[in-house]
Amino acid sequence: MKKKKSLGQHFLRDDDVCFQIANLLVFDESSPNLVEIGPGEGVLTKHLLEHNWNLKLIEKDDRLPKLLIKKYPQLEDKIIHQDVLKLDWTTIFEGEFAVIGNYPYNISSQILFKIIEHRDRVTYMAGMFQKEVAQRICASASTKQYGVLTVLTQLYFDTEYCLDVPAHAFDPPPKVVSGVMKMKRHHRFENEVEYEAFRRLVKTAFLHRRKKLSNTLSVYNINWSELPEGFADKRADHLSVEDYIMLYKLIENMSVF
Ligand code: SAH
Repeated sequence: MKKKKSLGQHFLRDDDVCFQIANLLVFDESSPNLVEIGPGEGVLTKHLLEHNWNLKLIEKDDRLPKLLIKKYPQLEDKIIHQDVLKLDWTTIFEGEFAVIGNYPYNISSQILFKIIEHRDRVTYMAGMFQKEVAQRICASASTKQYGVLTVLTQLYFDTEYCLDVPAHAFDPPPKVVSGVMKMKRHHRFENEVEYEAFRRLVKTAFLHRRKKLSNTLSVYNINWSELPEGFADKRADHLSVEDYIMLYKLIENMSVF
């Protein structure tokens, strides 16, 4: 089958990597509902079918649902033939679910933001992105990968980088190295911040990641003396998620929003 570049189609041909990804969620049995985004020709799906998941697939390519059902007849009625970004995620399952996939890299961030938006339903996520994106999601503060995507994801999920996958494991090989990661919903910061306002704060801080916070956040009119010593001189990538929450609360108290 001819691969469509517009759909980010790089099909995995390394069965061992598929096996490893499929097994990342195996022990997380609290949520038997699992959705695979972008199953392609079903190389990862094959391994998922060996577990007791209540599985659904979301695939945009018109040619693939028929091919998948032919290969795996038990998938009849399990395939949602739609664009994952246009789909209303509340219709996938009644309750909570986990998400898995060798994702289309051209829409990686949008998929992640969908997961964050539906954080009340999504318990786990595992899968493959371009390595740089997977590293950003799992980064620690004060590293060059640490950014908006990191802080917003880790506000709700514990993340873990799992393994690199070389380009030759795919057909056709992508131009980049890939990375497998997983994440699990946590509730440590539940109700601490209002997501949209928090997102605006973090985005503003990272607009100029080399500048001091006292400069980048000047629009917020912060009383820096209420924060720990040296805070104003820090840069966006120095702050942990907890630091951002502390900052947020201070601003909220000053009713700038
Ligand atoms: N999981 C397969 C395919 C990965 S390629 C494998 O590992 O071999 C990415 C897959 O995502 C392709 O099947 C592509 O058709 C699908 N896809 C791309 N954009 C999509 C979208 N917006 N919604 C749903 N599926 C999409």
